[in-house]
Amino acid sequence: MAISRKILSTMEKSSWIRRMFEAGAKLKAEHGNDNVFDFSLGNPNLEPPREFQEALSRQAADTSSGLHSYMPNAGYPDVREKVASYISGEYGIPLDSDKVIMTVGAGGALNVALKSLINHGDYILCPSPYFMEYQFYCDNHGGILNTVPTGPDFLPNIERLAEEIGPRTAALIINFPNNPTGTVYTQEYLDRLGEMLTVRSREINRTIYLISDEPYRKIVYGEVEPGSVFKAYPHSLIATSYSKDLSIPGERIGWLAIHPEAEDVKNLVNAAILCNRILGYVNAPAFMQRIVGELQGVSADIEVYRRKRDMICDVLADAGYEFTRPAGTFYLFPKAPGGDDLRLVQALQQERILTVPGRGFGREGFFRIAFCVDDATIEGSAEGFKKVLRQFK
Ligand code: PLP
Repeated sequence: MAISRKILSTMEKSSWIRRMFEAGAKLKAEHGNDNVFDFSLGNPNLEPPREFQEALSRQAADTSSGLHSYMPNAGYPDVREKVASYISGEYGIPLDSDKVIMTVGAGGALNVALKSLINHGDYILCPSPYFMEYQFYCDNHGGILNTVPTGPDFLPNIERLAEEIGPRTAALIINFPNNPTGTVYTQEYLDRLGEMLTVRSREINRTIYLISDEPYRKIVYGEVEPGSVFKAYPHSLIATSYSKDLSIPGERIGWLAIHPEAEDVKNLVNAAILCNRILGYVNAPAFMQRIVGELQGVSADIEVYRRKRDMICDVLADAGYEFTRPAGTFYLFPKAPGGDDLRLVQALQQERILTVPGRGFGREGFFRIAFCVDDATIEGSAEGFKKVLRQFK
């Protein structure tokens, strides 16, 4: 067999989205795009904001020499300055630009962080449900993802996490606003999490790093304010991107920031810069760095997502589904009526509604709806959602 056994098994494990994609393509070919209600992908449906288009034109018109050359692996110094200044304001901790590394999206930032921290066989803790790629990202660097189920409110249970920490625990990954649940963690919650990590790090005589994955930070609806991991715990790293809030996931641009008081911070920063290089990214895309440098704090119109959230919540509530209203992101994670997420998702497919089973995020019995779709898709799905619920009553 020519293909790596590990990759063959990864292909099998990561096949949920692919299966949904294939089922969707078949339905679309049979019924036409407009007659299939596709809630399966977290691909922002808003166009990038006007400020992005303007920055794009300005940067494209610049014909100065050297603009497309190699650069320092951590990114352009002036862009890192702008990002550091934004982070200092947003996260409430003064941060110098040397603690910021421009990356190839949040996925790139996470891989750089994990490669910098993991020794072979280390465990990385993560509350579930979770973004499935974490499993593969940890495995890329010889780490093992150890998932701990959240409670009914989808908040990670701090005591349960504390119990799972052992001498081989290198880090905890959290993600908020959360994919797939839309849960937002408050400052009060993060402070308690930080206290637990401080205590457990002392007890196991090893610093547990906290990696916070935050590409949805600006997609919040005002009900819960996202807290700052930098205020809560010194040994923390933030991985993020402009993919979701500027609606540019295809452009692959983000950053990794490291708390100035993190254990061994100098080495950690240098390790991350090296990893950015040797993972093959070399540096984040030059053109996009210059553009996002101009757009600190800018985002697509979040009000549009809020309206869509309210629309889909009304559709589901009206049909009788059980769900927690998401305080952020463009995802909803309702309970699967009847308890079997796979059966439910298949029944929804019969009504030409595409969703993802909760087991694709490590939590059976739920299903994920990505509502970053046209209003017509939400409206058109209402009857199908109702019909399916009646089948499971
Ligand atoms: N983290 C989470 C929770 C995500 O949902 C995603 C993308 O869907 C990513 C990271 C990857 O983001 P990017 O496209 O910026 O690499």
